[in-house]
Amino acid sequence: MKILAIGAHPDDVEMGCGGLLAMDGISKHILHLSNGETSKYADGKTRKKEAEAAARVLTAHVHFFDIPGRGITADEKTCLRLVALIREIRADFLVTHWEMDGHPDHRGAHDLVRKAFFLSGANVDMDASPWKCRNLLYFHPFSSGYGFTPEFVLDITAVYVKKLEALRSHRSQESFALPQVDAVSRYFGQNSGVERAEPFRAEFPLVVNPGSLFITGGQ
Ligand SMILES: [Zn+2]
Repeated sequence: MKILAIGAHPDDVEMGCGGLLAMDGISKHILHLSNGETSKYADGKTRKKEAEAAARVLTAHVHFFDIPGRGITADEKTCLRLVALIREIRADFLVTHWEMDGHPDHRGAHDLVRKAFFLSGANVDMDASPWKCRNLLYFHPFSSGYGFTPEFVLDITAVYVKKLEALRSHRSQESFALPQVDAVSRYFGQNSGVERAEPFRAEFPLVVNPGSLFITGGQ
């Protein structure tokens, strides 16, 4: 199984789905659309190095689009660039920002990824042949919640330490990110009968095998 997680800024996907990316037995790719140079804590060069360090912790391939901050949109050129990457990786699942996120870069990333998700499987005239991903997942919006209600949660208790290690690689953002991740993972975990969980929404209903339905969690 291959996952391509796409975030507007370095550390977005580590916060939102770092537990999923910390799991073994799957092929993982991370795409950072911008280098986060609009951060008040560090410049783009520093944040790119931090992102590379985090990807090493997660044993994920890392990609950068180097789009300037506040410039992430679903324009045709960027969308086709993303379609080309999705087709090259042949990702089974994409993971990105939810649509009701207050940060304009996050919303721009959502629009871009959702458009590319559909176009990848369509007959868009490009070198690579069409590739249909199985689903598009959305992680929790940390910058503003707007009442995010998950459609499923992933038990990340066993890999939470690795998720924290990846987040700590983003040294410039550490003080801001860690308390939020601690609160969200604990809240959604305890509401689902596990210690730590990552909440998600999905573009299409998830397919669950009967044997895996009641393995963990539940009240
Ligand atoms: Zn962000």
